[in-house]
Amino acid sequence: MVVVEVVTMTENEKTTQGAAPRATRRAAEMTAELTAELTAELTAESTAREITGAAAAETPDELRDGYDVVVVGGGAAGLSAGLMLSRARRSVVVLDAGAPRNAPAAGVHGLLGLDGISPRELLARGRAEVRRYGGQVVPGEVATATRPTHEEPDGPSSPDGPSHADGPSSPDGRSHADGPSHPDRPTDPDTPNSRDTPNGRETPNSRDTPNSRNNPAPSPFTLVLTDGRTVTARRLLVATGLVDELPSLPGLRERWGRDVVHCPYCHGWEVRDRAVGVLAVGPMAVHQALMFRQWSADVTLFTQGTPQPDEEQAEQLAARGIRVVDGEVAGLEVTGDRLTGLRLKDGRVLAREVLAVAAPMSARVGFLAGLGLRAVEHPGGAGSYLPADALGRTEVPGVWVAGNAADLSAQVGASAAAGAAAAAQVNADLIAEETRRAVAAHRAPFSAASEARVSALVTGDRRHGL
Ligand SMILES: Cc1cc2nc3c(=O)[nH]c(=O)nc-3n(C[C@H](O)[C@H](O)[C@H](O)COP(=O)(O)OP(=O)(O)OC[C@H]3O[C@@H](n4cnc5c(N)ncnc54)[C@H](O)[C@@H]3O)c2cc1C
Repeated sequence: MVVVEVVTMTENEKTTQGAAPRATRRAAEMTAELTAELTAELTAESTAREITGAAAAETPDELRDGYDVVVVGGGAAGLSAGLMLSRARRSVVVLDAGAPRNAPAAGVHGLLGLDGISPRELLARGRAEVRRYGGQVVPGEVATATRPTHEEPDGPSSPDGPSHADGPSSPDGRSHADGPSHPDRPTDPDTPNSRDTPNGRETPNSRDTPNSRNNPAPSPFTLVLTDGRTVTARRLLVATGLVDELPSLPGLRERWGRDVVHCPYCHGWEVRDRAVGVLAVGPMAVHQALMFRQWSADVTLFTQGTPQPDEEQAEQLAARGIRVVDGEVAGLEVTGDRLTGLRLKDGRVLAREVLAVAAPMSARVGFLAGLGLRAVEHPGGAGSYLPADALGRTEVPGVWVAGNAADLSAQVGASAAAGAAAAAQVNADLIAEETRRAVAAHRAPFSAASEARVSALVTGDRRHGL
């Protein structure tokens, strides 16, 4: 009995004594969790402050020469690519003419985690993030891009020593100079090479070029800026976006991105339930009218002299309660800095608060003509774009493209994602080239590296003083 009591007491004691440390442990854990959360919040806040502060007092970087990668265009796609490449310890410069497509808009919408952020603030943060990892962002507009046709033999060279006089090096002194590159090689053996473009087109596979069979070493790309500066790089990533070819209606351009809009996913919520006019400027007009009907029950399509909707379209428009006006629009009526109506050529004014325009979109890629790259017509008539495979690789070896220049429908999130994906491919391509060169050097019987190895083996410790 006594024994039982003792045992019971001992068990109780154990339980009571065990409870206290457990509670203490849990309290300590909770404190640690809270502290971690608080620290994370404070760090995020101070990082945001640091980034915003850095953006406010931005000092443009000095353009050097001989980068691993030049990214042309510093919008969502280009900065995202710059961030990935600088984090991959590549020497990278983002050259930017400073005219992102959505600049007139007050906020970027539909961007997870940053919905409503001002386009300017988003890109300022992006530039600070690129610079945080040693990448450069330099204002400037690229006028031409070429690559000398001169090809050097792919002889072995030391993977560690520069074989290219003004080879690229990172701002932190890391050297990536290992001479001319082989951008036409497979980027990553594990990555399937999709030849389907985002637009459903196929581009020639650069791996099949005679160049790749002959194992050439193309010279770096040379870019000339409109102010005369030049820069060279082993790879080129194009992220120059597109131009919305707005109709020349008086007063329209001034209101672009405010109450003259194009994309319901960007602005639809903000203009919901308002009186929306859709100005037909191309084959997307009926589609756009049907789209905006999702956000407002008051939609009118102005055919503007374009072909009338066909029978099926007319039925769809009627079924959705969308009015069709045939008369030509002559201008916008604006009162107190707000769109109030559309003035027709016959003098009528129809009240509208918002005007949607599906303007043709043209990829900004004219500077690539010297490389033989040109924009092609979009099959749906939406404009022109630069064809590439699903990974952003164009038909010219060593040139990648991301964002609106390749995909006319990409919003900010999709453009940033494409920039990051293309950057990873560019990095993989450079790694493949560097590995090939390292293997060649490793195998070479009389290279400086192998001589050093033999010397070390033969002389052992006695090599001291040699
Ligand atoms: C009015 C408007 C509002 C929008 N609102 C939204 C929205 O709310 N949410 C959303 O997700 N998307 C929105 N978009 C779409 C968004 O603008 C695009 O998805 C995005 O800008 C594409 O990014 P990008 O990097 O491809 O191109 P851009 O952002 O256009 O950046 C390209 C950059 O390259 C530069 N450049 C061009 N040519 C050269 C050259 N030769 N040399 C050097 N630099 C060059 C340009 O100056 C520009 O800075 C909106 C678009 C418009 C027109």
